[in-house]
Order: sequence, then structure tokens, then C-alpha cells
Amino acid sequence: PIPVIAIDGPTASGKGTVAQRVAEQLGFHYLDSGALYRLTALSALRHEVPLNDEHALSKLAEKLPCRFTGDQVWLANENVTNAIRAEEVGNTASKIAALPYVRRALVGLQLGFRQAPGLVADGRDMGTVIFPNASLKVFLTASVEARAERRYKQLIGKGFAANMANLLKDLRERDERDSQRAVAPLKPAEGAHILETSRMTADEAVEQVLKWYAA
Ligand code: C5P
Repeated sequence: PIPVIAIDGPTASGKGTVAQRVAEQLGFHYLDSGALYRLTALSALRHEVPLNDEHALSKLAEKLPCRFTGDQVWLANENVTNAIRAEEVGNTASKIAALPYVRRALVGLQLGFRQAPGLVADGRDMGTVIFPNASLKVFLTASVEARAERRYKQLIGKGFAANMANLLKDLRERDERDSQRAVAPLKPAEGAHILETSRMTADEAVEQVLKWYAA
């Protein structure tokens, strides 16, 4: 079977950076599953689909005209790499991600990323729901303060405005929503290695994941 490394964790934990670098090191494909929820959210905002219309939202998710080229993300013919990182899109994504039919609509798309020679998948439910038989499962966390600081730098770097107090509040709310929802709540998968990265560089985290994979 094609190997999968599942890396789950809360928002802004650094799992995206770590997962991407691990994929690079191993020459594996990379799935940013959060981007799929963000794309669905962006599409819903653009089409003014009410965020409680689960049926319409799941239809959007099912027919998401998305493409990934290198680290660029496309919705139909528009490059939305930066647009999907906006806080409003992230917040909307976390709301619609609580809807079972939206989650179900995105399963096939995610499974399709499992291609030779291997896949590194990052998200909230990679190890618990989408790839329960992954070769390696990692639960990557960091304190809410460390994550707010990382998200702050990331947003400023992309030219977005950012406010530390608001970021802390948003992260806490999103953590609450992601871990309390009825479907696919954020939690370590059975057999997952826990990686606490508050005082770790991305490179150190990558090294640890590669060590676990090689073991
Ligand atoms: O990881 P990222 O912040 O880009 O994800 C955006 C939102 O999508 C998260 O807040 C989470 O609610 C949702 N998500 C999810 N399951 C995943 C990936 C993301 O519910 N596998």
C-alpha cells in the first residue's frame, strides 16, 4: 500500500510547514486538507451561500473546481493562494467544517491525493477519519500563545493586517469549535505520536517526524 503520514493538530500549530518539509524530504505528495475547507468557505462567501444551508454547501464542496500546482492553489481559473488565508475565510471554514455533509463531500477528493510514492497529509482528522491506516500519525501542538505569534507573523508576511489580541481570541474560539464538534472532532488519533512544538523550530519538528517514520 502507498504510505501515508498523517499530521493533525490545532490551527496555526505549524503542521503545514512541517508537513510540507517532510513531504519534500521524502519526495512524497502533500495534502493540505484545511485548504479544501477554506476553498469551500471562499466559494460559499463568493456565491453568498448561507452558512446554515448544509445541502448547498455540500454541493459546493462536492464540485469544488480546485487545482494545486506546487504551492499555488486555484479555484476555477483564479489564483486564490493568498485569498484563502484571510482570517474571515479561516473562520468560515471552521464553521462549515462542523457540517457532516460538507465533510463527507470532501472525502473522495482527499483520498485521491494518496499516490505513489507516498503522501503527507495535514489537517484535523487525517489520522482519525481519512487515513486511519496511516503508516505514521503525528499530533502536532503548541501553546495558544506560540500559535498566535506564528499566525501573526504569517499574516503580516502576506500583507494582511493582524492584531494579537484578536488572533488569540480567534484561535481559542476555533480550538473550541474544532475540538467540541460532533463530527471528526480534533483529537489525537489512536497510536499518534504527540509533538509539542512551542519551543521547537520547524526544522527540529521535521527531524523528529522523519525519525519516527524511519523507525
Ligand atoms: O488548517 P486550516 O486552519 O487551514 O483549516 C481551516 C479550518 O478547516 C479549520 O479551522 C478546521 O475547522 C477545518 N478543517 C477540518 N478538517 C481538516 C482540515 C481543516 O475540519 N482536516
